[in-house]
Amino acid sequence: MKPKILIVEDEPAIVDNIHYALETEGFETISVFSGSPVIPLLAKEPVDLIILDIGLPDMSGLELCKEIRKSLSTPIIFLTARTEEIDRVVGLEIGGDDYISKPFSPKELAARVKAVLRRTQNAARSELSTQVFQVNESKRQISYYGEVLDLSRYEYDILKTFIRRPGHVYSRDQLMELVWAEPDMSLDRTVDAHIKNIRAKLKAINPEKDPIVTHRSMGYSLREDL
Ligand code: CA
Repeated sequence: MKPKILIVEDEPAIVDNIHYALETEGFETISVFSGSPVIPLLAKEPVDLIILDIGLPDMSGLELCKEIRKSLSTPIIFLTARTEEIDRVVGLEIGGDDYISKPFSPKELAARVKAVLRRTQNAARSELSTQVFQVNESKRQISYYGEVLDLSRYEYDILKTFIRRPGHVYSRDQLMELVWAEPDMSLDRTVDAHIKNIRAKLKAINPEKDPIVTHRSMGYSLREDL
């Protein structure tokens, strides 16, 4: 069965280009020109990946992504024309899997689609886990060396963020935006305090290891070689 790709983009010429490039590569494509039909469409017609323009006529693609993420983990590649939004997408990880800036070559887009599908299919198989961490999203529990960690809400969100992307350095601002309901109300120190607590809980299970790496003046990441 061909993987089905949903294109959400209001510029017909771009939609045509993407259709052509992806169908040539063996994908099936469907498209809509605005954001509002997307959620109802996905409810009745599951797709394998979504290509989502950020600048839609009726809503922001970023907002739509957040809506989609409330119920679905379908991979999303953003199309963007604006650099500040690229930073947002990449930095805050609101749930997108990749982005591509306009103008782009259809070939490059097809390559990205394949890469994201490969990556997310691998990730789905491992169900958000590493060698030593296992995340149970429905119970909001994380196990470390087989032991369930007793984490606060924020600690869980921070650690899950790290596990989702080992090796990726998150700044304190990014972590705050990711997990705090009202990031402006918090201080950098708060992030440090949560990291400290998480480290202590990990250490209680395995005193030999410190899986969280501090990057001076940059932020934190999870070790890749765990
Ligand atoms: Ca647009």
